[in-house]
Parts: sequence; C-alpha cells; structure tokens
Amino acid sequence: MPSEFDLIEHYFKWPAPGTVLGIGDDAAIIAPSIDKMLAVSTDTLVCGQHFFDDTDPFMLGHKSLAVNLSDMAAMGAKPRWVTLSLTLSRNLTENARWLSEFAAGFHTLAQTHQVALIGGDTTCGPLNINVQIIGEVVKDRFLCRDGAMPGDDIWVSGCLGDAALALKHAQQQIELSDEEAKYCFSVLNMPTARVELGLRLIGQAHCAIDISDGLIADLGHILSGSNQSAVIEMAALPCSKVMKRHLSSPLAAECILAGGDDYELCFTAPKKNRKLIKHIGNTLSVPLSLIGEIKHKKEQEKNLVVRDAKGREIIMEKKGYDHFES
Ligand code: ADP
Ligand code: MG
Repeated sequence: MPSEFDLIEHYFKWPAPGTVLGIGDDAAIIAPSIDKMLAVSTDTLVCGQHFFDDTDPFMLGHKSLAVNLSDMAAMGAKPRWVTLSLTLSRNLTENARWLSEFAAGFHTLAQTHQVALIGGDTTCGPLNINVQIIGEVVKDRFLCRDGAMPGDDIWVSGCLGDAALALKHAQQQIELSDEEAKYCFSVLNMPTARVELGLRLIGQAHCAIDISDGLIADLGHILSGSNQSAVIEMAALPCSKVMKRHLSSPLAAECILAGGDDYELCFTAPKKNRKLIKHIGNTLSVPLSLIGEIKHKKEQEKNLVVRDAKGREIIMEKKGYDHFES
C-alpha cells in the first residue's frame, strides 16, 4: 500500500504558479497581490450524498474544483489557490487508475484557470473530498447577495435543470435516451464555472449568486439578503434542447426551478445595463437570459412569484436542495 506521502508526491505535486511555498511543508505560503483582497470559500463532496460511488474519477476531480470555482465566480473573484483534503477508502489508495484520473480531472481544470494546488490533507476513510479555494478581488470590488434594487433585471447564465434531469433519470423517475442521459450526466458531473462572467460583471451587476441548490432557493437568498421581492417568468427560463423535449413531464418545472447542481450564475443589474450585459454574454459566448424583475418588498407579500405564460402564479412544492431536509 502506498504511503500518504507517496500518494501526494505521485498524484498531487504539480508546479504551483504564483506561490511562495507550495506542497511539502507544514503550511503553504502565498503572497496576495498589492491592493487586492482575498475571497475564501470551501465546499465538500460526500460520496453517496453529492455523487454516486461509480462516478467517473476524471469527472469527479473536475467537479470537486468546479463547484469551488463557481463560488469565486459568484463573488466576482479571480481564483488563485486551492487546497485539497481527501479522505480515501483503503481500496482507492491502491487504485492507481482511479487516483491518476481523479488527479487529472482536477489538474486539467486547475490549469485552465491558472489555479495552484498548494496543499491539503490525505486521510483514510469513506470517500470525501474537500476543497478550499482562495481568490482575489480588487479592493472593495466584489459581488455579494445583498445588492439587488427594485427595478433590476434578473439574469441567469446557461441552461437550468439538466443536472437535475440526470438525477431523476438515475432514480428512474424520468426516461432519457442514451444520448440525452450522456448529455445530462456530463452537465451533472462536469459543470462549467462561470468565472470569466463573474469577473466581467463587477461594476455592472448589483449582486450575484451561483445556482447550486436550485434557482428558487438561490434567488431566494438574494431576495432575503437584499430585502426585496421578485417576479420571474417561467417561459423565459433557459432550457437545453434535451430539457425542451421533456417539458411535458410533470417533473420538468421542478428540475428547472428547484434542481440543484446547475452552477450557473443568477445576478441582477439595472435596466440601463441591459445592452452591456448582452454584450458581455456575446463576447464570452455564455448565453444570458433575462428572466424577471426585482420589486419593492411589501409587508405580508411573497418574496418570489413565478408566473406562467398567461400570467398565473406557479406554485412550487419543492423549493430547492437542503441537506438537512427530512
Ligand atoms: P501534516 O502532517 O503537517 O498535516 P501532511 O503530511 O498532511 O502534513 O501533508 C504534507 C504536505 O502535503 C503538506 O504540505 C500538505 O499541505 C500536502 N498535502 C497533503 N495532502 C494533500 C492533497 N491531497 N493534495 C495536495 N497536497 C496535500
Ligand atoms: Mg495532514
């Protein structure tokens, strides 16, 4: 059986750009750029809870980093450094193919974003992956959840609900063709973090969040943080070709509105920035959809109303993903 140190040395020691001291000592040393502030976040993926135990290891490596990059995107931060804490079963520590694929998925995405792996921890136990990420923002310029203003447009990047479709398919609640399932599982397991978009929205958007727990839940955080309400139009919510084919399913609306694992950005911006936002989407080749409007919050009124094409309110039972839901 390889030692903990063999594992780290063999699979996780890569060049660490922009780092004073990387893997190998008791702590890494990093030097933030002048006039920058640090954005720090962490996310854990638990086997059986966040991913199936037969998930492709390359995709899992990618996803472990992508979900953390997505938090940086939502802050408008430039990701710079990550640590990786792995709890591996005894079987996996001896599974060279699994380890090298996992490391390759993580490393490939890290290189794309020029993020340095600067340390971590390796322990034995049920498979669990924790990543901590550190990014930089220009002093006092970042996106948070509490800036939405009445009259703001509400925008969403990409498409909604495809990852949730994959899960419903795995739970045999929705039937997908092989090709459709392949697409939905690639969205679930290889999410794209909208890092460039987050950076470009600084100064243009009033607030942003990444949709990891479903649109309603995450937009709900913006609304409670900003003390505003909102109306969104179901017909304006962006759907993939695959989702469009399944819109007649009673589960489609739930996937689009409350499905987790989308990792798209939801943000609000003043109407006067509409052209500019469209331009940002076009230059980055990221589809951006205008889905609704922020309203003044009135006492006793609901925070969020979803309307169908005829203007009637859609009532949703499930609001989003909650780990502690019974
Ligand atoms: P310590 O005994 O001080 O906790 P470790 O033996 O856990 O240190 O780790 C040795 C070095 O390897 C440290 O620099 C640590 O940050 C790094 N490291 C440990 N596990 C990982 C991992 N999974 N990925 C990247 N670096 C790791
Ligand atoms: Mg340790």
